[in-house]
Amino acid sequence: MQNINGKVRVRFAPSPTGGLHLGGVRTVLYNYLFAKKFGGDFILRIEDTDQTRFVEGAEDYIYNCLSWCGIEPDESPKHGGPYGPYRQSERKELYKKYAEELIEKGYAYYAFDTQEDLEKMRAECKSDENPSPQYDSKIRMRMKNSFTLSTEEVNAMINEGVPHVIRINIPSNESISFNDLIHHEVSFDSSTVDDKVLLKADGMPTYHLAVVVDDYLMKITHAFRGEEWLSSAPVHILLWKYLFGLDQMPQWAHLPLILGPNGKLSKRDGAKYGFPVYAMNWTDPRSNEFTEGFKERGFLPEAFINLLALLGWNSGTEKEVFSLEEMIDQFSIERVHKSGAKFDYEKAKWFNQEWIKINAAESLLPEVKKVLLSKSVVVEDDEYLNTIITLVKDRCVLMTDFFEQSVYFFKNPDYLDLEAIKPKWNEEKKYFFEEYCNKLDSMTNWNVIEIENTFKSLAAEKNIKPGELQLPMRIMLVGGKFGPAVFEIAHQIGKTATIQRINIALTQIINQ
Ligand code: GLU
Repeated sequence: MQNINGKVRVRFAPSPTGGLHLGGVRTVLYNYLFAKKFGGDFILRIEDTDQTRFVEGAEDYIYNCLSWCGIEPDESPKHGGPYGPYRQSERKELYKKYAEELIEKGYAYYAFDTQEDLEKMRAECKSDENPSPQYDSKIRMRMKNSFTLSTEEVNAMINEGVPHVIRINIPSNESISFNDLIHHEVSFDSSTVDDKVLLKADGMPTYHLAVVVDDYLMKITHAFRGEEWLSSAPVHILLWKYLFGLDQMPQWAHLPLILGPNGKLSKRDGAKYGFPVYAMNWTDPRSNEFTEGFKERGFLPEAFINLLALLGWNSGTEKEVFSLEEMIDQFSIERVHKSGAKFDYEKAKWFNQEWIKINAAESLLPEVKKVLLSKSVVVEDDEYLNTIITLVKDRCVLMTDFFEQSVYFFKNPDYLDLEAIKPKWNEEKKYFFEEYCNKLDSMTNWNVIEIENTFKSLAAEKNIKPGELQLPMRIMLVGGKFGPAVFEIAHQIGKTATIQRINIALTQIINQ
């Protein structure tokens, strides 16, 4: 790793425009792991300069997602901090002077083109070689800007309040390069970069100006973001060079894409293939469109961050299950892969299953209670619930599985899979269960060994293989062919319920 001098400061800088995609949470995680490994700070900055994309509730949703993942920012609009405000819309006044400084130095210019002018330019310049013409060094001389208008004209238009933007003056034919922590030496030909708007007509900065100014003012040392931002890097590098000096620039790391079944993983893939893509449930307040979250699907936060950490990183060992503390300890940006990481939902579920096994029943209890309550099963006895969780947790992949795997401990099954019993059912078996109920009824000490021994000796007496009786017994108590040891189930539900369930099943079989 490069020398780390001074305090590490990293940031996650989302635009609050909607739900938080798992790729976004992975960006948070890598930033956070890196910061904590070096005793640094993790900053959450809200990049809301595009007011047209503002979405009610999106910022709170981000806090909730991070908090569910067990990641608390050191500084944020909510947590405060010495470099605030942390919401870019509240820093509006600050950016203008940097845009003006760039104009003074000749690195930016005023542009007065209307929407129609831009559309006309795009239509006129479109060709086979240039299917989407950009506002760049080749085009700017035919537009309405400081290059084509006199200083007097420009000043007069500004004084008259003619709407205008400030654009960066991208040099032509220059090679812009930097050292990315993942991609290493990266270079761009400046001729492929357009003169991005830095300050909009409403006085708001664009993302490009704001991100550079804020990373500087907030003393960000390392900036890890998704690979989709790599193409913006040349603009940011030039802004760093022109405003603050390249020696001040954070070290960049552009994280590999997360891939779905067909290229970059999208929200649509989730809906199409039936897996969640967002951290938590999200309903877009504008369209009412609902997107399911990992949390509500039944993932534990430990599993969610664990599976995300391994989407693009490995520790160099076979180990796959990591706690947050272990990840902080083991994480290194050198072991983040360059190529895209394929999301595998089956593997994601495997992580969850592992974390359900690792967690003690006590720590799963509050969530299991919620799962049961959501299906109208109210549990008041925590001690009993703890015992049940311990019995069934190794059979659960998702937290939501706790309903099916444990509901029969709290109420009689709604449905009995009698079809599974019928083929091998006969009168002898019926007599066996009737007698077994009598024996259970007179049992004074209700424990697993007694319940099992009584069953086995009666089966021997009647010359029936116990294995042939255990499946019917399980279906009578549970409803289906699942669950832990059947005598343990009888023990837990108690004598009355056991006898009652056997009788209900016998009546149903007879009546069929
Ligand atoms: N506001 C950008 C986003 O929405 C931040 C990109 C960056 O980290 O520079 O993801």
